[in-house]
Amino acid sequence: MDELRQQLLSQIEIVPGPLATECWLWTGSGIEYGYLRGTLAHRLSFIAFNGPIEGWNYILHRCDTPRCINPEHLWQGSQHDNVLDAIAKGHHRACRRKPIKVSPALVSNRRRM
Ligand SMILES: [Zn+2]
Repeated sequence: MDELRQQLLSQIEIVPGPLATECWLWTGSGIEYGYLRGTLAHRLSFIAFNGPIEGWNYILHRCDTPRCINPEHLWQGSQHDNVLDAIAKGHHRACRRKPIKVSPALVSNRRRM
């Protein structure tokens, strides 16, 4: 895993983001790491620094920066969480015309389910 971490850290640009810690923008293209070859960088970063991804879970960004691979900004969620997260941030297709207000309390309750 150390080798994977080094590969990841050698291909990032550290920039200020919306959170207290900086965003690590992925600047690389691909990573060669055995069976993880071709896996998206933010998923690799999550695995390398935070641990395994359960099942088909998504890796979501707290910082709302798709290229960010800072493991502190990543969290693991189901497709359901992914949609709720998109709605909360106003990205979901259904929200484009009429923004829906989702309170953070509702989202965090749902995340615990
Ligand atoms: Zn970030």
